[in-house]
Amino acid sequence: MLGLPRRTWRWSILLATAVTAGAIGVAACGGNGDLRPAQDTVEDSSEKITIGISMYLLVDDLEDPDPTLSSNRTEEELIAILAGMNEIWGQANVHLELENLDTIVVDPDVLAQVAEGNIRAFFDRLGESIPFAATGPESSLISGFYTRWIGGSNGVTPLGSRSYMVMDEPSVFDHRVSGHEVGHILGLRHTLNDRGRLLYPGTNGMDLTPEEITLTRYVAMQLLKAQR
Ligand SMILES: [Zn+2]
Repeated sequence: MLGLPRRTWRWSILLATAVTAGAIGVAACGGNGDLRPAQDTVEDSSEKITIGISMYLLVDDLEDPDPTLSSNRTEEELIAILAGMNEIWGQANVHLELENLDTIVVDPDVLAQVAEGNIRAFFDRLGESIPFAATGPESSLISGFYTRWIGGSNGVTPLGSRSYMVMDEPSVFDHRVSGHEVGHILGLRHTLNDRGRLLYPGTNGMDLTPEEITLTRYVAMQLLKAQR
């Protein structure tokens, strides 16, 4: 039976170094392993799939942000990252279309917890004490949040979530980190076989295999159907 990703609070984490996984007590970066396209539903990959994405900078204050907690990126930099992500996802003929680009204010205590690797501190408050449309009916299929630090991680995607978070100075290319997290949202798990692949943790690999392309296109179509 095919289903949408279940929402659980286990975390899928791209670690700067895999050896820290045990140290910070998170689940190894997994994907949605139960998602598999049935043979008769695999569609024509020559058709472009367009997915809406919203990108947000997280800061503690709009006028006078604390540079140790707030993202130091600019909205223009997010646009450049998106262009790089689209180069990567062009392999699957998946296009990410920017729907919202904004800077949102988050309680400094929350950003401090995120900086220590506690991303629940942020995601648990989305739509609640962080008033925000990302979880509402008008939200994009994918939301990316850009923050200063996330513990020792370059980026994180809560398992089964359509949101990811990326830190300011990842150990690999910015667009690669974001593109990798989108891979998790579209159902991909890590590979440890080939450093050239997008789903190898902590490298600049950007390749998708034909199987990964088939799966991600399938998951993208299912998510788009569910969103309607
Ligand atoms: Zn990962």
